[in-house]
Amino acid sequence: MNVDLRMDLADCGSPERLLQVLFGYYPDLPRRVPLEDIASDVGIIGFKTLEVDGFIGGLTADPQKSHGIILTKDGLPRKRKRYTIGHELGHFLIPSHGYQRQCSKQDLEESSRTDAYKRQEAEANRFSAGLLMPKPLFVKDIDSLGGIEASHIRQLSDLYDVSMEAVANRYVDLSPETCAVIFSYENVVRYSRASKDFPPLDVRKGSQLPLASLTRRHRSTGSPSQWVNQHGGIWLRSQRDVSFPTILEQAVCQSNGFKVTLLYIDEDAEDEENETRELEARWTPHFR
Ligand SMILES: [Zn+2]
Repeated sequence: MNVDLRMDLADCGSPERLLQVLFGYYPDLPRRVPLEDIASDVGIIGFKTLEVDGFIGGLTADPQKSHGIILTKDGLPRKRKRYTIGHELGHFLIPSHGYQRQCSKQDLEESSRTDAYKRQEAEANRFSAGLLMPKPLFVKDIDSLGGIEASHIRQLSDLYDVSMEAVANRYVDLSPETCAVIFSYENVVRYSRASKDFPPLDVRKGSQLPLASLTRRHRSTGSPSQWVNQHGGIWLRSQRDVSFPTILEQAVCQSNGFKVTLLYIDEDAEDEENETRELEARWTPHFR
């Protein structure tokens, strides 16, 4: 254990502050962050298999959290396991979180702050995402990959050795574009995430993919579809006094009915469109 590092971390209350101190100690981390080494530097003394139904990850530590053991469900794919370990490490290092923890799949997707429990899960997720996909590096990679493309999510997932879902979240959060990503299985939405400025989606976990969506029709496995212009009403909830923007949709089929959809709103094109509409409205005589 690195005692100096541990002492510096003890003063940090938020995931962001913890990460800042951690990265100060490891200035030249590779993209595939050596998670186990960092964990053992900060007091994790072992990794074990979690054998409790309904849970994916766990933490067990002494009440002072000077030492801990991280547990993960048997058979978890490597990329998801890494994200789970990062999450549990977050619980271990964030002082206000308890020293015994069991986390479900839902906990590992939590991003809301509606109650204390969810807020802690969301903090552990922010820690894991921030540790495994360091912001400055990730932003640079998004930028150098160029325009928005579903295939970039897979590339980044391989590069950082983190699950597609976790990468997609980070991508949507850090990309400068107005975009959203939807994971589905046999046309039912498993999970969706949108950038802050994206209008409210009309799909949620468990709902059917819209009948008119490209994703429903796209069948070829492997390569992503072309981008297709869609009427915003296909994907968005209607809002009073707000007209639907045009949405660009791209779909990728993974194996066995799993699909990923990327939605994107070209803000520049929308601004132009709105200006044209305003001009037209101004020059159209109104009869009463
Ligand atoms: Zn948790």
